[in-house]
Amino acid sequence: MTTTPERTPAEELRAAVKLLREVADGTTRGPWVCHPTITRDDENDYAWTICRTICEGTGDGCEPDCGANVLTTGAEGCEEDNVSGADAAWIALAHPALAEPLAEWLEDTAGDFEAEHRTEPEMSNEFHALAVARVINGGAS
Ligand SMILES: [Zn+2]
Repeated sequence: MTTTPERTPAEELRAAVKLLREVADGTTRGPWVCHPTITRDDENDYAWTICRTICEGTGDGCEPDCGANVLTTGAEGCEEDNVSGADAAWIALAHPALAEPLAEWLEDTAGDFEAEHRTEPEMSNEFHALAVARVINGGAS
């Protein structure tokens, strides 16, 4: 029986870079905001809409994706698809404009490992980059 060799830090970082770019591709452009989906008399903390921000509407018209909805819950009073306000705020915060700067940071860090032929993180930046990559790769919680 053969065992799969563990990935090097550079490989882990590059896997996260690939995933970031693949998942961000085609998403509604950020930044995103969230607001209650519906206004009702009773407090409804679980019906949220996450959408692209509305632009300033300059003379050339709207920016791409202006105001586009990313996720809408509770639109028909259905509670099965709801998310909490905290979850909606997090989803909005983690909009896809984060993908490329994160990918570049992880890619640069992978390049450092490769350039120096290292397989162990040494600097705090490398530990942090690896921690981010492992969350993205699904190996950490
Ligand atoms: Zn607009």
